[in-house]
Amino acid sequence: MHLIGELSAVLATALFIFALYWMNDPKTARRGVIAGIVGMTVAVLATWIQPEIIHHGWVVGAIVLGFAVGIPLSRVPLTAVPQRTALSHAFGGLAAGLVGLAEYFLWTGPRLGLYPEPLTPFRSGALVVEVILGFLTFTGSLMAAGKLQEVRWIPQRPVTYPGQNVVNIGVLAIAVGLGVAVVLHPGAPWAQQAFLGIAALALIFGVLLIIPIGGADMPTVISILNAYAGLSAVAMGFVLDSKLLVTAGALDGSSGLILSIIMCRAMNRSFTNVLFGAFGKAQPAIVAGEQKAWKQETVEGAAQLLEQSRTVVIIPGYGMAVAQAQHKVRELFDALTKRGIIVKFAIHPVAGRMPGHMNVLLAEANIPYSALVEMDEINPEMPQTDVALVIGANDVVNPAARYNKGTPIYGMPIIDADKAKTVLAIKRSKNPGFAGIDNELYVQDNTWMLFGDAKAVLSDLVKQFGSGGIH
Ligand code: NAP
Repeated sequence: MHLIGELSAVLATALFIFALYWMNDPKTARRGVIAGIVGMTVAVLATWIQPEIIHHGWVVGAIVLGFAVGIPLSRVPLTAVPQRTALSHAFGGLAAGLVGLAEYFLWTGPRLGLYPEPLTPFRSGALVVEVILGFLTFTGSLMAAGKLQEVRWIPQRPVTYPGQNVVNIGVLAIAVGLGVAVVLHPGAPWAQQAFLGIAALALIFGVLLIIPIGGADMPTVISILNAYAGLSAVAMGFVLDSKLLVTAGALDGSSGLILSIIMCRAMNRSFTNVLFGAFGKAQPAIVAGEQKAWKQETVEGAAQLLEQSRTVVIIPGYGMAVAQAQHKVRELFDALTKRGIIVKFAIHPVAGRMPGHMNVLLAEANIPYSALVEMDEINPEMPQTDVALVIGANDVVNPAARYNKGTPIYGMPIIDADKAKTVLAIKRSKNPGFAGIDNELYVQDNTWMLFGDAKAVLSDLVKQFGSGGIH
């Protein structure tokens, strides 16, 4: 039985590694997901067959409960995937925190002697780490999910007050201090109360950590919380002597950390800036000097412009996701390519609200991968492009990122839409995007606005290429 357990752990770990590797590419991503599911099933079965597990009813109950929560969660629309992911992390963190609490009290409680080995300082240290990271991930992820879901009683904007960082770090420092005390004095009469105090402070810290962060910055924070949940699983693995948990937690923790780093780099932000920068606060307008006028184009005029061009680069952004306009985009792509026009999609690494957001939406609409071009490859082609069609993108095409040091997006690489011969931009209003700053691209001499919901505008545009309009 022991050997089967060990072999299954190796198999599950290998499957988790392949799952991550395959998920690197849209072509193999489905295989990656299947490998992850199989790996997790193997891990659950390998744990279940251990001789120590005698109350099988509890295991069955837990699995049924998992399905009851997981199935509705899997049905959420794609735009809600970031908050769905945050909820998964919340459950992971809660599980780690509860297991940590239970283990501590089994070791030190009235059933002392249940475990043959004593609670070593290493184990109690790991328990403290597990409980702090697990519980802060739980409340932090719930807050993050709530902000993204725009839950009414959770403020979307960053909530800041003087001395906030001192309070936050103070709460964490007290929890860590209590943890050190518990490790150094395991038999002290106050140790159990102190351990409960650590759990309570971690729960409070999770909330405090998230309130100063703007709703739109949550995806990065969620991936940092993913890293915390992974690390708490590693600590749990040490407590429970489970190599599988240690390796799976390490993979989870490191992939979360790497993803956060990639996202921060793509936005030209530092970790500290994401966590303490209160990004998303209203920014002062940046258009200096005389205010230029916005020029509007009709759908008929835009269709003619597109029809007369040889090359069109479509730049999708968060607005395409909000409008769920990807299928209309596909219809426009078909209408244009049928007329011999070369159509490419410029993909910015942080367009939308989660990594790969645009790729997933465009793939859902069956737009060929070959038409999707990464930012670095498309930019040299922009000056020769006849029409840049911006669909609900804003920050990722804002030229201020190149030179305006006063803006939060300064230094972020952008798609050079402004260099195209003509720019058509679809958005609903003159409101700014995620970073809260004006975008001079929209008032540039060669830019024409198509105001309205992306799906509605594209639908009208596609109609122009149909029976009644351009042939
Ligand atoms: P953006 O800067 O948020 O701009 C989106 C634009 O879409 C808005 O200006 C909005 O204007 C328009 N819009 C919204 N709903 C629309 C609808 N139904 N129809 C038409 N237009 C609509 O988005 P982005 O250019 O994609 O840039 C992404 C931003 O998110 C970057 O600043 C990035 O750093 C940040 N971010 C990304 C990630 C990631 O992983 N992708 C993670 C965290 C943060 P109207 O309101 O006027 O319509």
